[in-house]
Amino acid sequence: MSIAEWLDSNHCPKDRPSVDEMSEETKSLHNAIDDHMRETGIGYLHPSEKTVQLDLLGTAPMVAWQEGKVELLFGGEACWSELPQVYARYGTESGRALLSRIRSLEGAEAALLCDSGMQASALVFDVLMEPGSHAVMFRQVYNKTEKYLSWLAQRTGAEVTIVDDGDLDGLAAAIRPTTRMVFAETYSNPLMRALDLVRVPNIVAEARAVAPQIKLVVDSTIATPWGFAKPLLESGVDVVIASATKALGGQDRDLGGIIATNNIDLANSAMDLMAMRGGILDWRRAEAILGGLQAAESAHAKRCHSANIIAAFLDAHPKVEKVFHPSLPSHPDAAAIAASYVRHGSLLSFRLKAGDNKANGEDAARRFCDALATCKIVRYALSFDGLCSKVNHHKSVSEYFTPNEALQRSGLSELIRLAVGVEDPHDLCAALNWALHEGMLQSDEELDQWRADRKRALGL
Ligand code: PLP
Repeated sequence: MSIAEWLDSNHCPKDRPSVDEMSEETKSLHNAIDDHMRETGIGYLHPSEKTVQLDLLGTAPMVAWQEGKVELLFGGEACWSELPQVYARYGTESGRALLSRIRSLEGAEAALLCDSGMQASALVFDVLMEPGSHAVMFRQVYNKTEKYLSWLAQRTGAEVTIVDDGDLDGLAAAIRPTTRMVFAETYSNPLMRALDLVRVPNIVAEARAVAPQIKLVVDSTIATPWGFAKPLLESGVDVVIASATKALGGQDRDLGGIIATNNIDLANSAMDLMAMRGGILDWRRAEAILGGLQAAESAHAKRCHSANIIAAFLDAHPKVEKVFHPSLPSHPDAAAIAASYVRHGSLLSFRLKAGDNKANGEDAARRFCDALATCKIVRYALSFDGLCSKVNHHKSVSEYFTPNEALQRSGLSELIRLAVGVEDPHDLCAALNWALHEGMLQSDEELDQWRADRKRALGL
């Protein structure tokens, strides 16, 4: 029929047009979408995939959603991150399933899923920091976290005080009436200092008398939610942040981040911000992380167990000067670890003894990493808590532009970072032992040649 004929009201039949009588392209698309809805029980607008928006069947569910959101925003009982999906920038059904697992892991009333760990940190900082406000941060936090908070403070006219890890008197002294946040990592990278989960929450709680808006915000990426005797939120932490890219994903495959808290207002403010500017975890990654969560927990347990074996081996090794790992009795935070932590983390760092190597200092550390990588089972790579063990030279990767003297002053010089994977720890010890005794004797030319041959062999 022509448009002109449609416009003739005599042509409108009494019954709505039947899809069954429509053209094949229309009919097959909508029948397939309906079939997919019957199969999943969710109104996805695609014959086989999940979609960013759903068929709401009419306005009433949207109105109910809006009313539900207002109730959560003003009722203060839950975060609107868990409302049913209407559009993926506000949340997805796959995300809701993951959120409920994260809430129970963290013992949290509210949680948010972000597209990276940095997004999670940035959201919390953006909500908490205001012009004139102040934050205290421990020195060894992830360098991008420190950079973002400093940048934000500069732009907003806020201030940041940095205190040394373990300096709890310094922490107490740094807090002022305008302090809105104390930011710390439970285990820090690369020195694996451990946050005292009794004394630090006490200091923050006492400081509320002078700084009523203060929050203790903790990045627990390395320690993971499985790493404590009780959830961090029960120890007086106000907000837990983690990069799900690491142990929660556990396979070096998916970027992600989480925020967990019992502060519903804070969670709702962060959710409002994320809904405006983006940064939520998409449904594919939410599903990938959710599907692997149980395996990620046992893989993390295995890595931590192996890291304990490897830390003890390195600590006793004649070619090693110092090992930094929470399992070692000499750890500066041993009492805090024994009180609150049940896993020691899969990441460790160490420093070589100066001696009969072909190089010394940072060159020796770099050469060791390159030599270890020739054993093939420890890959030279960034990050941690994936399937493979990884090694890297801390200065080259994280402090490339920092002068050696400054690194020495902060205790971060000549560090080799080892992220333990799921391999047999005795195989890893064999590779480490070879690299310590023999690998260090390789010349730069031999190491370069190995890299060229390996590249060719792998077709890279
Ligand atoms: N927090 C810690 C302790 C990290 O090590 C990292 C990344 O390396 C992040 C946060 C940031 O996580 P993402 O890479 O997922 O943004």
